[in-house]
Amino acid sequence: MGFMTGKRGLVTGVLHETSIATSITQSLLREGAECLFTHMPGEKMERRTRKIVEGFGVSNPWLQPMDVASDADISACFERVGKEFGQIDFVVHCIAFADKDWLRLGKFAATPRAVFANAMDISAFSYMAMGNAALPVLKDGAAMIGLSYYGSEKAVPGYNVMGVAKAALEATNRYLAMELGRVKNVRCNLVSAGPIKTLSAGAVGGFDQILERIPQVAPLPRNITAAEVGDCAAFLLSDLSRGMTGQVLYVDSGYSIMGL
Ligand code: NAD
Repeated sequence: MGFMTGKRGLVTGVLHETSIATSITQSLLREGAECLFTHMPGEKMERRTRKIVEGFGVSNPWLQPMDVASDADISACFERVGKEFGQIDFVVHCIAFADKDWLRLGKFAATPRAVFANAMDISAFSYMAMGNAALPVLKDGAAMIGLSYYGSEKAVPGYNVMGVAKAALEATNRYLAMELGRVKNVRCNLVSAGPIKTLSAGAVGGFDQILERIPQVAPLPRNITAAEVGDCAAFLLSDLSRGMTGQVLYVDSGYSIMGL
C-alpha cells in the first residue's frame, strides 16, 4: 500500500515522456493514487497524453482538454471533475510558456509587452486561476503543487521573462496558500526543480551551459532526474507533508545553497 492510496487528483502537463508531469504521474501511480489528466486541446494532444498514461497501465484514462489561457476551459474542467467525482484530493500544475524568441541570451530588456503578459498569464496567473476554480471540488485538507526554478531568484542568462514569471508564481503560491488554507485547509506548495532536458527546457537559450554547471558546483555533483522531482511532488501531495504550505521545496542537487 502506497502513501497515496485512496487519493484521486488532477495532473496537468503530461505532453511527452520527458515531461516532469510524466514523472510525477509515475510516482503518484506507484504510491497508489488515481490520476485524472488534462492536455492541450486537439486530438493529437489527447493522443499523446493518452499514449503516455496508458503506457503506465492506466486503461481508459480520464482526459480533459484544458488550455489555461481560457477561463472557460478551466471552469469546464473542474465542473466536469465535480460532476463525475464530487471532490478530489490533489491538483498538479505543471505548465509554463514563454515565446522562445525571448528566451535567448541578451534578449530580456526588449521583451515586448504581449510576450511578457503571456508568460505571466500561462505560467503564473493560471496557477491561481486553477486553484480558485478547483476549490469547490477540493476536499478539506487537499493539496496543490506547481513547478518553479531558481531563475525566479537569481538572474540566469537566457531564462529571462520566464524567471520573472516564476518569481510571480512563487508569490502567487504564498498568497494562494494563505487563502485556500484558511478557507478549506487546502495546502499549496511548489517544487523548485534543477534543470531537466524537456521540450520546454529546449526553448531556453544557454540551457546546456546550465546543465553543465550544476555538476561543477552543486553539493551533489550531478544533475537531478525527473523521477526525483516526481517523488518530492508526491510527498507534497500526500499527508506526509500535511504541516507544510506556501513553501518552495528545492530538488536541485543543493545548487541553490551555494554562494559561489
Ligand atoms: P514540458 O514541455 O514537458 O511541459 C510544459 C507543459 O506546459 C506542457 O505539457 C504544455 O502542454 C503545457 N502548457 C503550455 N502552455 C499551456 C497552456 N496554455 N495550457 C495548458 N498547458 C500548457 O516541460 P517541463 O520542463 O516538464 O515543464 C513543466 C513545468 O516544470 C513548468 O512549469 C516548467 O517551468 C517547470 N520546470 C522545468 C524545469 C526544467 O528544467 N525542465 C525546471 C524547473 C521547473
